[in-house]
Amino acid sequence: MPETRPVYLPPDPLTPERDITHHHFRPGEHVVILKGAAGGELWGDAMKVVADSWHTPTDEDGWRLLDPNGGDRSYITAHPRYLVHLSKRCPECLMHQKALREYLVKRLGDDDEAVDCSWYSLTALNQLVHVADARPGR
Ligand SMILES: [Zn+2]
Repeated sequence: MPETRPVYLPPDPLTPERDITHHHFRPGEHVVILKGAAGGELWGDAMKVVADSWHTPTDEDGWRLLDPNGGDRSYITAHPRYLVHLSKRCPECLMHQKALREYLVKRLGDDDEAVDCSWYSLTALNQLVHVADARPGR
């Protein structure tokens, strides 16, 4: 899809600051990895928590996730602080979403077009890495 309009991509100062433990999540739960905004709302990839998995980029406990739209990279491993509960009953995740939404909408406006802020990348071993956790040579 051609994209000629220059888009300012704000950094993500909020996710690296999250204090979310590994056991905040459980296998079978539905989560979202927030990657940007669309139409004044947060935008991201919905996934299902599958099992414990070591997150090598941070050397911490992570979660293996099933990405239903991931194609041949359907299973990825992510750090708990990248995940947000899709259920509206989790106050911690709701608070984070609210802060991130206010931060992003202020910077990106409420344009309908989805903007991926490019905060995440996937390693050759299907480990999802936030730009704040990416270290050269890993
Ligand atoms: Zn939560």
